Amino acid sequence: MKIANVEAVPLRMPFNHAGSDRDVTAGGWPALDFCLVKVTTDTGIVGWGDAFSYHCRESVVAAVEHMVKPAAIGQDARDIAGLNHRLQQKFHLFGRYGITLFALSGLDIALWDIAGKAAGLPLATLLGGTTDRTLPAYSSLFILRDKEKVMADVWRSLDEGYEYIKLHEIGEVEVGAAREVAGESIPIMVDVNCPWTPEQAIRMARKLDQFELHWLEEPVFPPEDFNSLARVRGETGVAVAAGENWCTSFQFAQAIEAGAIDYAQPSVTKVGGVTEFRKVVALCEAAGVQVMPHSPYFGPGFLATLQLASAMPNPGLVERFYVTPEASLYGDWINPVNGAFRVPNGPGLGLDPDPDVIKQYRVA
Ligand SMILES: [Mg+2]
Repeated sequence: MKIANVEAVPLRMPFNHAGSDRDVTAGGWPALDFCLVKVTTDTGIVGWGDAFSYHCRESVVAAVEHMVKPAAIGQDARDIAGLNHRLQQKFHLFGRYGITLFALSGLDIALWDIAGKAAGLPLATLLGGTTDRTLPAYSSLFILRDKEKVMADVWRSLDEGYEYIKLHEIGEVEVGAAREVAGESIPIMVDVNCPWTPEQAIRMARKLDQFELHWLEEPVFPPEDFNSLARVRGETGVAVAAGENWCTSFQFAQAIEAGAIDYAQPSVTKVGGVTEFRKVVALCEAAGVQVMPHSPYFGPGFLATLQLASAMPNPGLVERFYVTPEASLYGDWINPVNGAFRVPNGPGLGLDPDPDVIKQYRVA
């Protein structure tokens, strides 16, 4: 079974969130970008992958079309681990983390979708897990920078049944407001996205500790400063989560060795796909580190995360980016029920993306 074609399928989908009237980045964040990766085999099986592309869609699409596609066509679609390794080696001079690995992740996810379809099994089952379970979800709030909006979104999350909430706030006021609304028993995580020096991070972790953080995410820049993350943990006692910006399982191994994290956050659309994600899971299980998948996605990467989590003895918490996309590629499956995700049990990733939604949101 050979790879007959690889195609980047870029989408751009408007979305709503509680901070809709606020310009989030310099250019705003008006739409969710997708780079779906459609792989077809010479036996006619179609697999769907997902390459990370928020704010970088055109570059990722170019990497899929001009780097990954020519290297993948004609290769054995079943030799997923081998092809992943060979392409990592072939592309290493273009950067071991970033656009190249995002594109490669998309191919890898599609090939695992094909493997499941060829076997007639959902990916979770293929990997030794089961789809006959639910996965606890957490509500991952948008960057709001507004106390009232944070409070409203925490209320709404609790009302919808979420039992865990993550903020993307860096201020005491907003975090304190969330704790006030959530009460004492709801775990609150705070993701700050690498804003601080080690000293600032230690000072802020001590300040935020009064709000009983379940974890503090990416407190230090640069993200791969493992020794400083270890210092934050050691000197404050606050649990640290990180990993969405790390390069393959090799940096996860170094982070674990340095004692940098309580929670590991591999991202299937960034880290090197299902193949590399599984290596991270194996490392973490051997070291007693809990995996908390990074998955603020609505495409095949989200389904791949559900399937991977279902194949883990302890799936951790699955992230639901708390925004409202204009449409869904997978109907209601992107929404948790009573705070937990169901796992689709069709072959491969469990479901194929809705062709009408693709048609409506496809961009050049
Ligand atoms: Mg994060």
